Amino acid sequence: MRLKEDAMQKGQLKPAYNLQHGVDAQYITWVDLSSHPTDVLTLVPFLKDMDDHLPFQYKEIVADSGYESEEAYVFLEQNGQESYLKPQNYEISKTRKYRQDISRRENMKYDPETDEYICTNGRKLKRLYDRHSKNRNGYVSTVTVYECESCQGCPYKDKCIHGNNCKTPMEERNKRLNVSKLMKQKRQETLERITTEYGTQLRMNRSIQAEGSFAVIKEDMNFRRYLYRGQENVLAQSVLLAIAYNINKLHFKIQGGRTGQFLTELKAS
Ligand code: SF4
Repeated sequence: MRLKEDAMQKGQLKPAYNLQHGVDAQYITWVDLSSHPTDVLTLVPFLKDMDDHLPFQYKEIVADSGYESEEAYVFLEQNGQESYLKPQNYEISKTRKYRQDISRRENMKYDPETDEYICTNGRKLKRLYDRHSKNRNGYVSTVTVYECESCQGCPYKDKCIHGNNCKTPMEERNKRLNVSKLMKQKRQETLERITTEYGTQLRMNRSIQAEGSFAVIKEDMNFRRYLYRGQENVLAQSVLLAIAYNINKLHFKIQGGRTGQFLTELKAS
């Protein structure tokens, strides 16, 4: 299954609906509509909706970085599904700028024994406290706050401490980190999964299949604007479009002798 955000009405009307496609073997197999302006909160309700209606369950869930969240990771694990979500920092983490950014905890050493980070200046960032926050779906995450033992006189301070709106003068400030340990762990596990050959193949297919379903509907089928209003009507029209898309897809797969093909193979380099 792959997901893709909709930008169906961008450029014509303010987008009022966020349409999601689940795709499998190049067919649209599930459609959901929400009013969330971003994708991050849409994945879990989408998967729950599938579970409520389908007689089977997809075991591998592939989605782009816009869907990554701790809530999604936890849901997938508890639901017996394997995460192939692309981390939000996946692309940027490969840049030199990111890897040389000393303010990021990813570029600090971590001591799991003492639960402390060690910064570029060799000083310790110790755990202060945990705080809890709830998202709009009601999911509660735990964030651990770490603070440097002392940033006094540090020559790296300008590069390390950001946030110009802080009322405390820079010379009195100590570096703080907010870290969700669970998110950190799940992101790392997923990163290892998506960078295998199979994970790479799934991500490539997500891009082809999910981006493709929207591209065909918008460009080839020239669908630019819903004819009806209201969530129920818009969803109904989206389902009709998906059926039309699937009939076309079946036709082309029969013509091309590809009816048994689920995934496009990776090209050998
Ligand atoms: S500002 Fe603080 S945390 Fe950052 S490098 Fe200097 S001492 Fe370390």
